[in-house]
Amino acid sequence: MRLEAIKCPKCDARLNLVEAAKFCACDHCGNNFVVHWPQPAQPELTPFQAILERLVTQQDFLVADRRLGYLAQDISESQAEMRQASAAFVATQGDITAVKAKYNEKIRNALVCTGLLTVFSLVMLMVFFASLGDSGAGWGLLLAVGAALGAWYCHQLWKKTMAGEPAELRDAEERADLARERCIAAQAQLKELELEQVLCEGKTRRFRYHGDKS
Ligand SMILES: [Zn+2]
Repeated sequence: MRLEAIKCPKCDARLNLVEAAKFCACDHCGNNFVVHWPQPAQPELTPFQAILERLVTQQDFLVADRRLGYLAQDISESQAEMRQASAAFVATQGDITAVKAKYNEKIRNALVCTGLLTVFSLVMLMVFFASLGDSGAGWGLLLAVGAALGAWYCHQLWKKTMAGEPAELRDAEERADLARERCIAAQAQLKELELEQVLCEGKTRRFRYHGDKS
């Protein structure tokens, strides 16, 4: 769930913050933040900069350095999930197109058949009236009635197809929505891991830098 009302402490721009996120970045000013949640929906944001300006102890360094090892693995898994989620979403878009194409073709075929059989039935009706009294009249009537029944059947098929589309299309669209949510979740997770990596790298770099100076 995304929180809409959170603002960047640095530049006041609206932050795209996911509930319970541990890290976030401001797209407007480029600052990164560690997020604490003392109250639900009331996060406290501490800029990376403020954390990195504090003394990085050897203990901090060791924790960050060990975490970096795990993060590389987590990030590559998260990237794989991101790729799978994107592929699944693209597939659902293909499904929606296929469902629409299938129904459009069925509807078109049913309409064409209805039209052709109606015209044929009318022509046979004319044949029937034109040949009243001779032997062709019986055939004309028979074919006119047969074609009329066929046209009626095609028309029923058209109505049934028209009624069937929304349900199947709705199912395909629901699957697409789920796939889209999975993409958003994967993207948010990857972003968090990358931010944590930036922070850990900052800590180890800072510790090494000060270590070299002393
Ligand atoms: Zn900002």
